[in-house]
Order: sequence, then structure tokens, then C-alpha cells
Amino acid sequence: MGHLDEAGFTRALGPCASCGSTVHQLDAYLDRQISMMLGDANDEGRWVHDGEKFVDGTFRIACVACKQVGFEHAACPRCHHDDALPGALTTRSRTAVPKRCPACNDTELTITGFAPATVRTGVGRPPAPTPRALVGEPGFHVAVLACDACDWVAVADGCPICGSAGPLRERP
Ligand SMILES: [Zn+2]
Ligand SMILES: [Zn+2]
Ligand SMILES: [Zn+2]
Repeated sequence: MGHLDEAGFTRALGPCASCGSTVHQLDAYLDRQISMMLGDANDEGRWVHDGEKFVDGTFRIACVACKQVGFEHAACPRCHHDDALPGALTTRSRTAVPKRCPACNDTELTITGFAPATVRTGVGRPPAPTPRALVGEPGFHVAVLACDACDWVAVADGCPICGSAGPLRERP
């Protein structure tokens, strides 16, 4: 369970304590899958989180109208390492993406990583996260690499987001 559970999440998305507005901006670390060709992104990628992972990865909720912050936590959203979030948002991934598969030399890999994302919520508005960093940019962290042609898979050492040694907690 993250620092925010389903009930706390729903509460934080209720009317703003200061102005009553129900339009909020969420910041979250969300799972994104991208196909890579010779070490470069082949596409913009796609979100692969579900609703529970969305709640789990949320680290800030603020009112859009008056900027009142309803929830904020500086711990790493993946491993809960204290105060690890600001560093994670400004550093590049420690896991490099090789140009070719080390096992079969194929040029195409599929990676799954954690992308910082911003989401605006409101009544009747389906959440559509916008990535704030793409693969290779500060803030994006590679978690798993897999070859498209063979069964080669590599996983980031320790916590993929902040690099702490772990152990990693269960995710929903
Ligand atoms: Zn407000
Ligand atoms: Zn391969
Ligand atoms: Zn971490």
C-alpha cells in the first residue's frame, strides 16, 4: 500500500478545503512502456498502469483554482525511501538501455519504466496523464528491459525510481 490509500485518495479529490473546487492536479509516477530501436525510443510509449497503481504512484494532489495542496509526500513512491522523490525527479535513469540485445544482437527492445506524470481531474473527466519526462530525460527511470526477439530480460538494481537498495515493497 502506498502513502495514499483508496479512501485517502477519494478524500483528497473531494471539494478543496480552502475554495471548494473539485478540479485537482495530480502528480504521480506511472508505469510506461516504450519500444526502443538501437537505444532510441521508437514511439512515445503508452501507459500500462491500472487504477490501483495510479493511486499508489500519486505523490501530490493540489487544487487547480487556489493551489491549496491536499496531499504531498516526498518519499519514493515505489520503495518509500524517505525524501527520495526530489532527487528522482531531477536525475536520469541509472539503468542504461543497450543499443542491441546482449543475448541475440537484435535491435529492438521493449522497456517498462516509471514516468513522472501530471493529471488534471474533475467531474466527468476521465484521467488522461501527461508524461513530464520521456525515456532518456531526467525523471524517467527504467525498470525492466526485454528483447522483442528472444527471452532476454533485465531488471533495474534495487528501486528503479530512486536507486535505494530495497527491499521493494509489494505493489497493488
Ligand atoms: Zn482550492
Ligand atoms: Zn534478444
Ligand atoms: Zn525508491
